[in-house]
Amino acid sequence: MHAEFDLRGHTAVVTGGNRGIGLGIARHLAMAGADVAIWSRDATANDKAVSMLTAYGRSCRGYVCDVSDEEQVEAAMSATIADLGPVHSMFANAGRGGNLVPFLEATLQEWDSVLEVNLHGTFLSFRAAANAMAAAGTGGSLVATSSVSTIHGAPRAVPYAASKGAVDAMVKALAVELARHGIRANAMVPGWIEVERTAETHARADFQAHVLRRIPARRWGNADDVGRVAVFLASEASSYVTGQSIVVDGGYTVF
Ligand code: NAP
Repeated sequence: MHAEFDLRGHTAVVTGGNRGIGLGIARHLAMAGADVAIWSRDATANDKAVSMLTAYGRSCRGYVCDVSDEEQVEAAMSATIADLGPVHSMFANAGRGGNLVPFLEATLQEWDSVLEVNLHGTFLSFRAAANAMAAAGTGGSLVATSSVSTIHGAPRAVPYAASKGAVDAMVKALAVELARHGIRANAMVPGWIEVERTAETHARADFQAHVLRRIPARRWGNADDVGRVAVFLASEASSYVTGQSIVVDGGYTVF
């Protein structure tokens, strides 16, 4: 066993951890030994995820939390620390795509609804975690889930791309500002990841013809591909890695 990847004694928060990529992140963190809190809005989905995660023998708890709501985020952080102890990593993963509206018909309401979760939610989650880490003097790791739509142009997804580009910029600024507290900040940048939400699109022949053949790995990514990078970024193995956006896309963006 490579001791620096061992997360026993580590508490992680994963927002949007009850399904999709977030559940993959939570699962790999628990497999590496971490206690895990998942913050999402759907209590039933949280319970289901928690019972799956506790099978790895760690303490795992679900908290109903809308990450775009300041009070809910602060309450979830207090409850997590009370239940699981000091938080060592925060995965600000909760996110939503937009409604694929053409930019010429875009509304401010649509723009706000995407940024409220993807950007403001990341700000609130990171701020709550960084304050707790600085007060506890433990240091820690902040990790956002970005997207390759910050690298290649994504039509009808302007609010989404803008929100993720802002998150990439945030981790650079935070890496510099929070280093004195022993807090690192990075982003994971997933490519085409197959989750329940995307399975129908990924199964379409036309979509496969256009996209799959442009992925050098010749397969869709999955939540495990992202979860393994999450373990690295939470652990001591990445102690000299900060301010980075790490692409997890099977080579899509370099092809
Ligand atoms: P997903 O399966 O739809 O999961 C989204 C998660 O976010 C759910 O757990 C959802 O739980 C939670 N969530 C949504 N709004 C929330 C809010 N306001 N407060 C708290 N939790 C909220 O999507 P996914 O594909 O796994 O996406 C996860 C992240 O990866 C997102 O940031 C997404 O932009 C990013 N991403 C995905 C892909 C991909 O191909 N799948 C590629 C690049 C980046 P509740 O509904 O219970 O709140």
